[in-house]
Amino acid sequence: MLTQNLGYPRIGSQRQLKKACEQFWAGKLELRDLKEVARKIKEDNWQTQLDAGIDLIPCNDFSFYDHVLDTSLMLGVIPQRYQPVLSQVKTNNEVDLYFAMARGYQKNGLDITAMEMTKWLDTNYHYIVPEFTAKQQFTLFNENVIGEYVNAHKIVGDKAKPVLVGPVSYLLLGKEKEAGFERIDLIKKLVPVYIEIINRLKKQGAEWIQLDEPCLALDLTKKEQEAFEWAYRAIANRVSGVKLLVATYFEAVLDNTALAVNLPVAALHIDLVRAPEQLDDVLALIPDNLVLSLGIVDGRNVWKNDYEASLNLINKAVEKLSSNRVIIAPSCSLLHSPIDLDLETNIDPEIKNWMAFARQKLHEVVDLKHIAQGDLSRLEANKIAIAGRRTSQKVHRQEVQNRVAAITDTDATRDADFSTRQQLQRDRFNLPLFPTTTIGSFPQTDDIRLLRARLKKGELSLKEYEEQIEKATIEVIRWQEEIDLDVLVHGEFERNDMVEYFGEQLDGFLFTKNGWVQSYGSRCVKPPVIYGDVSRPNDMTVRWTKFAAEQTKKQMKGMLTGPVTILQWSFVRNDQPRELTTNQIALAIRDEVLALEKAGVGIIQIDEAAIREGLPLRKAKRAAYLTWAVNAFRLTAGGVQNQTQIHTHMCYSEFNDIIEHIAAMDADVITIETSRSQMELLQAFAHFKYPNEIGPGVYDIHSPRVPSTEEMSALLTKAAELLPAQHLWVNPDCGLKTRKWPETKSALVNMVAAAKQAREVL
Ligand code: GLN
Ligand code: ZN
Repeated sequence: MLTQNLGYPRIGSQRQLKKACEQFWAGKLELRDLKEVARKIKEDNWQTQLDAGIDLIPCNDFSFYDHVLDTSLMLGVIPQRYQPVLSQVKTNNEVDLYFAMARGYQKNGLDITAMEMTKWLDTNYHYIVPEFTAKQQFTLFNENVIGEYVNAHKIVGDKAKPVLVGPVSYLLLGKEKEAGFERIDLIKKLVPVYIEIINRLKKQGAEWIQLDEPCLALDLTKKEQEAFEWAYRAIANRVSGVKLLVATYFEAVLDNTALAVNLPVAALHIDLVRAPEQLDDVLALIPDNLVLSLGIVDGRNVWKNDYEASLNLINKAVEKLSSNRVIIAPSCSLLHSPIDLDLETNIDPEIKNWMAFARQKLHEVVDLKHIAQGDLSRLEANKIAIAGRRTSQKVHRQEVQNRVAAITDTDATRDADFSTRQQLQRDRFNLPLFPTTTIGSFPQTDDIRLLRARLKKGELSLKEYEEQIEKATIEVIRWQEEIDLDVLVHGEFERNDMVEYFGEQLDGFLFTKNGWVQSYGSRCVKPPVIYGDVSRPNDMTVRWTKFAAEQTKKQMKGMLTGPVTILQWSFVRNDQPRELTTNQIALAIRDEVLALEKAGVGIIQIDEAAIREGLPLRKAKRAAYLTWAVNAFRLTAGGVQNQTQIHTHMCYSEFNDIIEHIAAMDADVITIETSRSQMELLQAFAHFKYPNEIGPGVYDIHSPRVPSTEEMSALLTKAAELLPAQHLWVNPDCGLKTRKWPETKSALVNMVAAAKQAREVL
């Protein structure tokens, strides 16, 4: 029985890579020093995995920015617009080209946009989307992978296993950049380069090569399934003497099971954390000789593995296949895990004993192998930890569970239907047509961030800190009045982050010091950990919202984060369904909504930025998810009076496939991102005849660019062609916290002018 790992975090335990990259981009670090930081991280990672006792250790899993971008460079998939970078830059040109593709290029008289970025399947990791043309050529443009293998071999010897994004998933996760062809048809041109790479690696001595094919766990068309068959047959025909391992993860292979197990490769990896039930299906169809890698240690969460439960699965596989055809592994690359639990010194030791980060997970993989081979001594401590968590009062709180069990449909339903509420709210608020508002946050300047840092360090008393935040809040309110916005916000200056701020005030959450996970490029996030039943011991936002409301005669909108977004951006419990955890959070937010209402706040926004990203990868599972996700939102809002206006906000605009569920949320007002798509994506709402009010963003806050009044007027005109003018609000795409003040001010002044024009002419 072998053990393997599929990939290890590459940011470094102190986020060294982030810091080095950012310094390099700022021109403050030499390329060779950046490479030196990378070398150190890689060598540490290999050594760590070797020391843990892993048999097949990944290499080429490192990346300066993104491994899909590395793959594009490897294969020479370089969009035409970067040619000038290649020809202009003499020194460093490959790294300049690489970062130009990742981040755009504005130097030497050139101005070239970055490549698009999107979520890696259902994770919060973002990859750079390959761009294909009809005449796309593939060549071995960058040979880094060979060097990575050679370097890894120096440290871990024959255990080094190069990792590649598999050819079919590489195509499927990319995008056609012109009409007239389907990218999957490029497979015939692509595979020869893979054959070349595999043969080169074999020549260097590689025994195993891992090909990540996560798309094998997605809904595939017939043609895509055939591409898998064809590609791996073609590779098998031209490659021998090296073992190929195809890795799937994040979902079950389901209807692709026969396809997956019959690929002509040495081994298949399946995710038994997400989909333990697929083991039976795979074992039923597995042909003789195929080795099965059991992805049994959760690569996406922070909890200790339950060895006894894992052992059941391992034993089942061993019984059918015998142990020499079984590999023990994490469910997916550990890229999605924080690095090292040992660095956490502030976590309650009882809870810490239930957790495992990437480094600990390596030991779990190795433990499981030994236990499966009869060394039961490694089982005991784990049993105690798992049993402790199962019964701990820190996790299980009867009163929270009783409350969730008692939720009724009535709790999740407003008293009156929308049109009745709309009339009552119009009478109450008396807003003009095309009312203007913002999404919540205003620029979080260095000054504001510094205040929080100084409070944390004890350099500022709470009183001094609050006085400064009050000052900033008053200023932003005065300014909003000055430019004549209709519904004001308090600016969110007191919040570090829209999830963390709430997590810190809710029971059942904990925060790590170093639990960083790469989100994209040098960006890392440190998600809160939900470990126990969630409840709300005190008011969370009432103090600041009330303070703000008292500063003005205009309507002050209260700002909350919704339950699905809090869930989605945290590490969650794996001992109960996500739905249940979400409902617990929903009840806490509901109480906050009611507390705000009681304090006199008439308009309350509950942000659900992340509902869409929680969508299951398989279409068949989406409706069930959306039903409980929407219900959790309705629960937060369902208790208020008809005259209280509930807003929600979502930072994206693709609603086509989920519009009926969005409508079912029944928010009085929804604000969405639409400016970059020129309102095109508003059509989903139009076709559906979306009944409630809606604020399609007219100003792209992701860029410092100031849109003109004319531009925003034009967008409003378009919106009014698609939806009833009486239902439209005027607002930016999202919160303004990442913007600077000058552009924010100019843009909002123009936005208010555009709304006033619309009132005249539309
Ligand atoms: N209210 C939040 C803000 O304005 C919403 C942010 C978001 O949707 N990501 O910052
Ligand atoms: Zn947003």
